[in-house]
Amino acid sequence: MKISIIGAGVMGMWSAYKLLDAGHQVNLYEAYYPGHTRSSSGGESRLIRGIYGKDDLYMDWVQYSLEQWQKIESKLGNQLFYPVGCLWMFGNETAYGDYAFDYLKKIDWPIDSISLNETRNRFPQFSLKGIHKTYYEPNSGYLMARLGCQLIKKLFVQAGGTYIQEQIPVDENRLEDFNYKIIDHDSDFVVLACGPWLKSLLKNLLGNKLMISRQEIYYFSLSAPNPSFNTSSMPAWIDLSERNYYGIPFTDQRGFKMADDSRLSEIDLEEDDRLPTPKKIEAIKDYMRFRFPTFMHPKISEARVCQYTNTTDGNFIIDFHPQRKDILIIGGGSGHAFKLGPSIGSHVTQLVSGQANVNPMFSLDRFNDSDKFQSQFKR
Ligand SMILES: Cc1cc2nc3c(=O)[nH]c(=O)nc-3n(C[C@H](O)[C@H](O)[C@H](O)COP(=O)(O)OP(=O)(O)OC[C@H]3O[C@@H](n4cnc5c(N)ncnc54)[C@H](O)[C@@H]3O)c2cc1C
Repeated sequence: MKISIIGAGVMGMWSAYKLLDAGHQVNLYEAYYPGHTRSSSGGESRLIRGIYGKDDLYMDWVQYSLEQWQKIESKLGNQLFYPVGCLWMFGNETAYGDYAFDYLKKIDWPIDSISLNETRNRFPQFSLKGIHKTYYEPNSGYLMARLGCQLIKKLFVQAGGTYIQEQIPVDENRLEDFNYKIIDHDSDFVVLACGPWLKSLLKNLLGNKLMISRQEIYYFSLSAPNPSFNTSSMPAWIDLSERNYYGIPFTDQRGFKMADDSRLSEIDLEEDDRLPTPKKIEAIKDYMRFRFPTFMHPKISEARVCQYTNTTDGNFIIDFHPQRKDILIIGGGSGHAFKLGPSIGSHVTQLVSGQANVNPMFSLDRFNDSDKFQSQFKR
């Protein structure tokens, strides 16, 4: 089949690579560049971790995806995955970790339930104030984000895929007309993988199903080198207690990364400046002092503003356009799709080839107009 994919973020990129591998002829269109600065797949790094509440499917997908990330690493000869471990910290509510712990054990994903005392001894960098339970995933860690997208593009082109730098105009009002071609050539099938831009491109269909939230990410520097905050001494981490922050320790390439995962304000993709806000800077510094009291004199060395494309239940959209079975919509990454790019690409390949049905978890008709937006952490 001749397939056109619009958007070379992690979802479009992996779908293109997997569809090509399955024997299709694939054209990949991207307005800017894979992993460009305003895309949701841009920036330096992304966490890859196993705990996913009661969502067994995501945990299976993480396992498969990690294998795939490592497989392309060996093809490329570049490191994309850094197994620095991942520490989970829970407050009173521990169910998200407890259920996943049992499932991850079942599928042989390395995970330990460690006592607070042991956590304190192993990772004295963290203050465990307000923490009631910790889980540790020794083989999890982080992936290179922008670099990952760029290198998969390289593999895709080497394997015979066609990459075209072009912004494709999508006229939503003509989609009901089966003769309307989004791409001006004889594609049999189109995959719309436009990330946060899906909301405005498909305003009638998705306008009220997606919320594009503004996310600030900070990199801190130390006033003097201190190896205890490096990846060699401490893991990546997620704090799911009262406040929901996550981070990655010092790496060779950047500072001590920290971000607030809450999704409170919206961003205008075209109109807004991407500068951190004083209120959030104070909040992150306050959190830094609270959770890492021995991190002396923290100063922000860099900040980024990115966006999540949130759905109401934190699950993705991977479904056919209601009027067009030759158009697949993939998006709604909800702040957690990067790691799962390979599984999304495989699922897309099965759907396009008729080897799988739309999963109700990702379907368009699961949405109810009265639903409120919530993250995959359901908080
Ligand atoms: C700050 C931040 C931290 C995150 N942390 C994690 C994490 O730790 N772990 C994790 O797994 N996930 C994480 N995520 C989520 C993950 O990165 C996203 O869910 C994922 O990257 C979304 O990818 P995408 O391909 O849907 O969108 P995008 O990466 O935005 O790609 C869409 C692409 O489509 C292109 N496009 C749009 N319209 C057109 C058009 N008309 N013509 C041509 N091209 C077009 C755009 O230019 C863009 O490049 C994070 C996201 C952010 C922002």
